Amino acid sequence: MLVHDAHCHYQFAEVPAAAVDLARREGVGYAVVNGSAPVDWPDVAALAARDARNLPAFGLHPWDVPTAPVGWEALLRETLVAHPQASVGEMGLDRWVEGHDPVAQETAFRAQLALAVELERPLTIHCVRAIGPLMDILRATPVPRRGFLLHSWNGPVELVPELAGLGAYFSFSAHHLRPTKADLRAQFAAAIPADRVLVETDAPALCPAPEHRRYELPPDAAGVAQNHPANLLVNLEELARTRGLSPETAAELTCANFARLFLGQ
Ligand SMILES: [Zn+2]
Repeated sequence: MLVHDAHCHYQFAEVPAAAVDLARREGVGYAVVNGSAPVDWPDVAALAARDARNLPAFGLHPWDVPTAPVGWEALLRETLVAHPQASVGEMGLDRWVEGHDPVAQETAFRAQLALAVELERPLTIHCVRAIGPLMDILRATPVPRRGFLLHSWNGPVELVPELAGLGAYFSFSAHHLRPTKADLRAQFAAAIPADRVLVETDAPALCPAPEHRRYELPPDAAGVAQNHPANLLVNLEELARTRGLSPETAAELTCANFARLFLGQ
């Protein structure tokens, strides 16, 4: 069984190369490796050069907006042009993170959105407590022809049809395994169109609770549990159960959706 990871961060030091190798032996195929700031873009590019299944994404994460170096937009353009297979991400809006500047975040968002449209690349959006401002932008601004991913989707069901019409894909993550997230699982069961469902780990982030953890990584220096890339299989199985599909059918469905969005096939 082959499964593609729609969103991860293999470039982070918490993900050893051996963990990625294990994930690949377990059936993980393509993985969209999302950069978060200019400082980690070379590491993302190196992973893509090492294995073509590591699909690079370059972007400025909303948490990294305050420390972005002057000229990051020009560097992003240059990096995307040098990597024709790359998408744009991780970018987004986050009104939960401490000390956020909504104006600076929105400026960075609009710059990356415009670049993705101009260069015809898909993009990956992180949205936390900012669905209103996100909708305001998406309703009034051109979006990439191939579409965009709302990673670890956590918005209201009412917006799903409109977002799907705009070109959105929605990824299922360990966030949706939590007992308190039955409402989001219900969206993945029925509201989200079959041709827009993806599955992701966000590894090493979004570590599932111990009962959903099939593979372990050591905790980081602060003691925070880290998500192993091979836990993608657990998320896939839960997504399959949620939609009433066999794991094999869910894997085929998400692979076809992945290929359309990230490979342009
Ligand atoms: Zn992420």
